[in-house]
Amino acid sequence: MFSHFIIQILETILSISNISKRYGKIQAVNGLSLEVKKGQVFGILGPNGSGKTTTLSIILELLKANSGNFRWFGKPPSKESRKRIGSVIESPNFFPYLSPVVNLKIVADIKDFGYDDIDRVLTLTGLFERRNTRFKTFSFGMKQRLAVASALLGNPDVLILDEPTNGLDPQGIAHIRELILHIASQGTTIIIASHLLDEVQKICSHVAVLNKGIKLFDGKVSEVLAISDSYELSAGNLELLTNSVKQHPAFQSVVPGGDKIQVYFKDAVDPEELNLFFFHQGITLTHLSERKRSLEQHFLELLDNNK
Ligand code: ATP
Repeated sequence: MFSHFIIQILETILSISNISKRYGKIQAVNGLSLEVKKGQVFGILGPNGSGKTTTLSIILELLKANSGNFRWFGKPPSKESRKRIGSVIESPNFFPYLSPVVNLKIVADIKDFGYDDIDRVLTLTGLFERRNTRFKTFSFGMKQRLAVASALLGNPDVLILDEPTNGLDPQGIAHIRELILHIASQGTTIIIASHLLDEVQKICSHVAVLNKGIKLFDGKVSEVLAISDSYELSAGNLELLTNSVKQHPAFQSVVPGGDKIQVYFKDAVDPEELNLFFFHQGITLTHLSERKRSLEQHFLELLDNNK
């Protein structure tokens, strides 16, 4: 029991507790709490203006919160914790006439790291071949990858990225996504702010949905995706249909609605299997319509309920 407790504590990379930030009349972040554990790819998902960048700026100590606090690796932020965090918050900014190697040497000097990691991060981000070309000749995607390379200097335990694929073409997006997944596979914890649901679905293991600075939901992406299927059903005898559907092994709940019923299932249910199930009970359906809730619908519903 005790050792289990210790493991739980060691695993927490970031805990944010009740943080609020106001800019004049705008409440950018409102009582936000969340926990990021080791190895997670944690998405902070929300529309423009929902407080994502403000949150990242606070945990990176670029901004001060009005209230609340946060801990890195179980302790208040310190010089030591800062060395374990790499981040890309703004658009990539390097000296245009210098090569990636020289630019990274400058970053290494500022961060007080040696130069021995430079080849590794250039290789990891696919820029090693271009290591001696001037930065200004780089495509936007390559510039973005160099920013990630720079954040990876010193092999941080955590990588923080703000809208990493903004402004990239499809190939650039694919490159960055692969890179993020590769870095995550090496055990680095990643925190990503994004307004793109699709992006979060493709790369994140966990997600917190923000709207107007308030956390609406957080959890495993796979759990959000596994939201139960629902079906709209109808038959000549609705009472019989309602009683019958309750016998289905995956039945969760039923909501009456005029001449139809809306049925929610705990697990995914195949429409053909459902039809057959009723057929075996002597019921002929007059209507069957599947309603799958994707993360997108769930996300939109969450935002809608919070208007
Ligand atoms: P985006 O994706 O558009 O950057 P976001 O989710 O990152 O959005 P924030 O940039 O954190 O959101 O902004 C949250 C709110 O705070 C917005 O209403 C924004 O206009 C406001 N805001 C952000 N920075 C400032 C500032 N320096 N001064 C005043 N208001 C600000």
